Amino acid sequence: MKVLAFTFCAKDYMRCFLVVCLFSVLLLPGCRKKSTAEPIEIISKKSQPIVRALLFNDVKQFDLNCDTDITVTSELAKLNKAVFSKSEKQIKIAFDNGAISIGHWLCRAGQIDIVPDGNSIFSINGKKYRGYLRVHVDNDSNALDVINVIEIEKYLAGVVGAEMPSYWEAAALEAQAIASRTYCLYIKKRFGSGRNWDVRRTAANQVYNGVSAESKQVWQALGKTAGQVLFCKGDDGDDGIFPAYYSSTCGGHTETSKNVFGDEFESLQPVECKYCKGIAKKKWLNWSEVIIPKTKVNDQLMARYPQLKKLEKITKISIEKKSEHKGLVRISWVRLTGRNGESDVVRGEDFRLAVDPTGFKIKSNSFEIKDGGNSWGFSGRGLGHGVGMCQCGAQGMARKGKSGEEILSHYYPGSKIKELY
Ligand SMILES: [Zn+2]
Repeated sequence: MKVLAFTFCAKDYMRCFLVVCLFSVLLLPGCRKKSTAEPIEIISKKSQPIVRALLFNDVKQFDLNCDTDITVTSELAKLNKAVFSKSEKQIKIAFDNGAISIGHWLCRAGQIDIVPDGNSIFSINGKKYRGYLRVHVDNDSNALDVINVIEIEKYLAGVVGAEMPSYWEAAALEAQAIASRTYCLYIKKRFGSGRNWDVRRTAANQVYNGVSAESKQVWQALGKTAGQVLFCKGDDGDDGIFPAYYSSTCGGHTETSKNVFGDEFESLQPVECKYCKGIAKKKWLNWSEVIIPKTKVNDQLMARYPQLKKLEKITKISIEKKSEHKGLVRISWVRLTGRNGESDVVRGEDFRLAVDPTGFKIKSNSFEIKDGGNSWGFSGRGLGHGVGMCQCGAQGMARKGKSGEEILSHYYPGSKIKELY
């Protein structure tokens, strides 16, 4: 999606180092408590929705590691089942002449489930996950889709800790947990029935890093909010869950979803944010000019939107539509003109992510464009799309003593928290 995971700078490493040193001194041998990152009991007991997180697509092979036995079943028949002993440790899974090979076993089914015994953690290419693994043959690409099937609260433990530093205030983590749960369930409901997975593990939806993102603080935030989601009115006038978008740093004001993504919900309206300024890095709040060669801008846009080939070569970029809230200008639509005089429009958010898929050069849709001859220069404010919760703002509010509920009702005005399960 939308969301940008936080990256650590040297300052953050130094802060972490100092914190670790301080704890090492305070926790004398014998007093040291093991900081568990295991799921809290209450979460495991609740009957929860299942999430199918797409880990990789279009892969030909990968390695699976597990410390326990695993059982492989296919959709063909219950008889089509194999058990791999934990002694095998690492199993190679590959797409092999129209079939899936799992170690020494070949299966002609279009889909298999690989289930570790006793809910054990498994790893793929060195990255650890809970739940189990589903491997699906994609006949169009002649390759495999690798999907993690997992209870939503365990999935969220791998999201909240990836989207927000776990040392942030408990209220900010709780707000993040509820926003991420709502967003995931909305995407699952809206798109999941038409495909064999619900959400991507990347910022294209929300970042999911499996067990490595878990921490005691994240599990506590999930334990406190388990099952809670946000409801608001949609454009049909009915109450329901909605895509509770969030982004890193709004820069002073959030934006309506209609102007950025085109969808309309009562609670995705613009609000002033006075809270990210004291939290976000200065280079996120105001980012200086990034120069990108015109040939690169052209190639990136043409590759992402083949319909733009009718322009032959993009020679002019102009602002088609923008919005302004308290001096913060965001670009809703950009007009691209070709050397043959033809032109077309793309959304400002789509434009910046097509030109810079990392989202860290053209950091937001609040930007200015300067024509520099052979290049275009971009400078602007904020980090991310600016719709819904401002994550740095959430931390700023939490530091001022606001609760998770207060943070959410500020950034999603008119929304209500409901307990779904
Ligand atoms: Zn903000």
